[in-house]
Amino acid sequence: MKQIIGVLSLQGDFLKHKQAIEQCGHHALYVRDFENLKKCDKLIIPGGESTTMLLLIEKLELRQPLLEFGQTKAIMGTCAGLIVLATNREHLPSDPLKLIDVKIKRNAYGRQVDSFIDTVKLKLNGKDIDFEGVFIRAPKIMELGQNVIPLGYHGKDVVMARNERILVATFHPELTNAVTIHRYFIDKVG
Ligand code: GLN
Repeated sequence: MKQIIGVLSLQGDFLKHKQAIEQCGHHALYVRDFENLKKCDKLIIPGGESTTMLLLIEKLELRQPLLEFGQTKAIMGTCAGLIVLATNREHLPSDPLKLIDVKIKRNAYGRQVDSFIDTVKLKLNGKDIDFEGVFIRAPKIMELGQNVIPLGYHGKDVVMARNERILVATFHPELTNAVTIHRYFIDKVG
């Protein structure tokens, strides 16, 4: 059945997520207010700049609706989206949403010039998959809390993880042609 997958479109890389969702055969909806959030079965919080994104979440009074959404429905956060969903504040203007128990370090690989593409090793549905990881001023996951399962590695670093309803990646799955991760999120998370 077709699902409605929202993309939080306050700032950042939302167009490519919309295209990936449509390629998976589902409806994509840009979410900028509570009205549209209510229509969604699942939500993606894209990459971008987490400071700006959190400021806009507060300004548009989306914190509480997003927290409530995350209690019953699935959310995927990529890069800045992961930072917004994590537990530690790390120079953010307000607390992150803390919907997944991971501690992160922002810009952990350095500055914009230290952005890179490299293979990440995923383990999805019991299968090992090589995926092209696009890392843009990416954070690192420093600690995984209880109920958080690692799903992807770059060397020894965990770069993708999930709990029951929340899936996070430090890289940008929407910038590669393969929709493996979007499909996994839509079919298997939540
Ligand atoms: N460096 C950004 C931040 O700290 C994240 C970058 C990204 O989403 N590509 O919010």
